[in-house]
Amino acid sequence: MDSMKMKMATVWLGGCSGCHMSFLDLDEFLVELAQKVQFVYSPIIDIKEYPDGVDVVLIEGAVCNEEHLEMARKVRARTRILCAFGDCAVTGNVTAIRNQLGLGNAESVLQRAYVELADDNGPVPKLGVVPRLLERVVPLHEVVPVDYYLPGCPPPAERIKFFLIQILEGRTPALKGDDIKFG
Ligand code: SF4
Repeated sequence: MDSMKMKMATVWLGGCSGCHMSFLDLDEFLVELAQKVQFVYSPIIDIKEYPDGVDVVLIEGAVCNEEHLEMARKVRARTRILCAFGDCAVTGNVTAIRNQLGLGNAESVLQRAYVELADDNGPVPKLGVVPRLLERVVPLHEVVPVDYYLPGCPPPAERIKFFLIQILEGRTPALKGDDIKFG
């Protein structure tokens, strides 16, 4: 029976998880959604490897490090419909603030965030433990082709629902008016 369902995934890159929290705000629509799609990958389910043959994916967050870059490329190669989910994925948004802070290159950002600002009571983290940062944080469309953009910080649940219903019905989601707002 599940083989007849659309395969759906959500992915969390450089974001605060607020977009996924908004996804969970779909409340009872999640039950309806679960009857129509098979969730094959998401931070909210325990599947470790992104599978082949995914029909639709919502990707939260900007691309900040090499792990994100590799994941974005893998997801694109294995997915039919890819949606940049939330302002960080669409424009870089909050995650890209480090591009503007004058902190210099990725190495100096890493030094500042993980060494200089480390908790005095905890162990000092070693450089190399976290994935290598990209020199600049970039939105998703700068590294892979994006099919749809779902703006908002986070996108309200009603907007996510509208998008998903259109996709499930085989239509082209066309956001209008307030649904095109950022922030
Ligand atoms: S768009 Fe807003 S809510 Fe979503 S990951 Fe970015 S900061 Fe968080």
